Amino acid sequence: MKPGWTDEERALGERMRRLGQELGHDLRAREETCTLRPGDWKRSAEGGVLQLPLPERYGGRALSPLTCAYALENLGYGCRDNGLMMALGAHIWAVELPIREFGTPEQKQRYLPALGDGRMTGAHAITEAEAGSDALALTARARRDGDDYILDGVKRYITNAPIADLFIVYATVDPELGFTGVTAFLVEREQAGVTVESRRDKTGLRTGPWGEVILRECRVPSARRLGAEKQGSRVLARCMAWERALILAPMLGTMRRQVEECVEYARTRVQFRKNIGRFESVSHRVVDMRIRLEEARLLTYRAAADLVGDPRSIFPEAAQLRTSESAVETFLDAMQVYGGLGYTTGTDVERNLRDALGTRISSGTSDLQRTVIAERLGLTTGIRRPDTRRAGGDRHADAR
Ligand SMILES: Cc1cc2nc3c(=O)[nH]c(=O)nc-3n(C[C@H](O)[C@H](O)[C@H](O)COP(=O)(O)OP(=O)(O)OC[C@H]3O[C@@H](n4cnc5c(N)ncnc54)[C@H](O)[C@@H]3O)c2cc1C
Repeated sequence: MKPGWTDEERALGERMRRLGQELGHDLRAREETCTLRPGDWKRSAEGGVLQLPLPERYGGRALSPLTCAYALENLGYGCRDNGLMMALGAHIWAVELPIREFGTPEQKQRYLPALGDGRMTGAHAITEAEAGSDALALTARARRDGDDYILDGVKRYITNAPIADLFIVYATVDPELGFTGVTAFLVEREQAGVTVESRRDKTGLRTGPWGEVILRECRVPSARRLGAEKQGSRVLARCMAWERALILAPMLGTMRRQVEECVEYARTRVQFRKNIGRFESVSHRVVDMRIRLEEARLLTYRAAADLVGDPRSIFPEAAQLRTSESAVETFLDAMQVYGGLGYTTGTDVERNLRDALGTRISSGTSDLQRTVIAERLGLTTGIRRPDTRRAGGDRHADAR
């Protein structure tokens, strides 16, 4: 882990914080329409956000995952629009990253510069009606036809779908093969057979648009397959590690802002002729908020550091789990600190809370993060010992 940030990194963090302050205004009105603020995507691109992890030869900044985490935390500290942060994160970690890691030279050249400078927006489409946590049980089909594939299927809850120009779509070349048949494809919105339906049914993160992606007889050249045929699970696993490690880095900034605002409120709100911060129940609540933030930040930075070294690291999942759950607890605590005011829509608290609830589901639910960590710890592959006690065996033997 990095002991401290260089002057250059601190200057980047400060630039990101200021950029964040320029972004995401008019939140209340845009929550109604489920839209980004016009110009914010372009401004984020101009400020270098979309280029943070891209290689220099594609116009990127080639920053380490750790520096990316620091930059994005500061962006989130400046910006109140968690929906925009989620939209940017889905584009960077679930579209740019897999292309950077698995794309052919032609695919990288075609997509990375445009994704990095904001000419193209990306979306990552795996979830289906019957394939959520069990993502690789998908039914979207990819039939080979000469040098093309024909894709059919319906994807839902796809962040950025209404504004995306490029989709990474997962489909199976043979449903009999289970997850080993899954293959990833780069599908452009303009291709025949692609339809997008916008949805305005989100509880939180409403300003980050989402929707359904419907593929009907969509012909995709094999040159647009991402990675090898039947290697979609590898692409997904790598992409999920990056996404789980880093997509909530801006949420650390939101939590930091919320803690600071609660300190300020508790120092100035007077009841029983005292600042409420003098009541231990209030001050200890704020202390717990602050400690939770530090735990989530340490896990995020540790996860970022592990992305370049340890493919079996538990930290991407631990970071996603702890940051999302800590965010929910922190905004609940903030609501309590503010009392009735926190329950109104006049503060950011209720929106932050609704936004945070979604982060316990996106990138895999909290249950799934725990399940993956259990697998990495070896808990799901216990050694079966012969049962000497009684015939028929112990039905929990697998777990030992
Ligand atoms: C804000 C947001 C953004 C999203 N963006 C995208 C996107 O860009 N692209 C995309 O493809 N998808 C996206 N999703 C979809 C998301 O990945 C799925 O919602 C998620 O994986 C859960 O799937 P599900 O909704 O079908 O729930 P289910 O899988 O049906 O889960 C229902 C419940 O069962 C539990 N459960 C299921 N299996 C297990 C298990 N093995 N062990 C323990 N508990 C289990 C879950 O934890 C949950 O509590 C997004 C979702 C949200 C909320």
